[in-house]
Amino acid sequence: MEVLRNAGDMRSFAGKSGGAVGESSVGLVPTMGYLHEGHLSLVRRARRECGAVVVSIFVNPLQFGPAEDLDRYPRDEERDLRLAEEAGVDAVFLPRPEEMYPVGFTTEVRVRGLEDVLEGASRPGHFAGVATVLVKLLNVVGPDRMYMGQKDAQQAVVVRRMMRDLGFAASLVVCPTVRERDGLALSSRNVYLSAAGREAALAIPRALRAAEEAGQAGDGEPPARLAHRLRELVKGDLTLQEGLEVDYVSAADAESLGDAADGTRAILLSCAAKAGDTRLIDNVVVRLEPEKAVQSPLL
Ligand code: AMP
Repeated sequence: MEVLRNAGDMRSFAGKSGGAVGESSVGLVPTMGYLHEGHLSLVRRARRECGAVVVSIFVNPLQFGPAEDLDRYPRDEERDLRLAEEAGVDAVFLPRPEEMYPVGFTTEVRVRGLEDVLEGASRPGHFAGVATVLVKLLNVVGPDRMYMGQKDAQQAVVVRRMMRDLGFAASLVVCPTVRERDGLALSSRNVYLSAAGREAALAIPRALRAAEEAGQAGDGEPPARLAHRLRELVKGDLTLQEGLEVDYVSAADAESLGDAADGTRAILLSCAAKAGDTRLIDNVVVRLEPEKAVQSPLL
């Protein structure tokens, strides 16, 4: 496994490995490190589908707000490299911030309309940071396929639109959320949770799962009404949970992230809440049409 720290080396590694489909294609899994089974599920999917797998590890300062946890975001390079190697990664791209954002860097990529709702409303500037770093990573690595998790559903929707708008040829593969046995979605930030915080956090997957089941039973109900009902269910459950501070609960059209309405094919039921100091996000997608008919960005 190669460990590459500058863009030139990364570019030439990918140039040697990629170019087409199947055996000679390059798969990129962008991460902020502190790897867990969620990240590794993306690596394994890429391993099955691509000739070479590149994992990038970069805690991207542009996507953290001034009051957020950039400084205390968990990092463990040695462990990450070991896990990547065991998972069969061909190259890890580990750029320093100066490599990604050289002095005088002023470019920003905005995905208007999608970037300022849900997570974007709570974290102004977050998705501009995400879109900007991904344009750079896509240009440096030049993958044929890029792998992201449904865990960050809005991120997938924003990035898919950005790639389409800017003409990136790579395809985006969105993989299911990996959860602990008790339902908690894996996240690098879970290490911050106290025992009590973790217990409170379990209300999130429980509430989403219950609403998902209620949604599947909602045969023929108009999407706007169903979305409202599911949102209220989740909000009610989470608000009652001691030790959890709800930021938002949303039931939106999974493709436009706007209000669910007639014609909505899937509802993205998502939420953010704090357990202690740890901010957690999670979501489920409720399909309103048979699975095959729904080509949602997330599915
Ligand atoms: P992060 O390191 O948190 O930026 O995540 C890097 C990638 O891994 C993103 O595409 C995430 O959506 C994905 N990811 C994070 N947690 C999970 C999870 N529990 N299941 C599936 N994918 C995940």
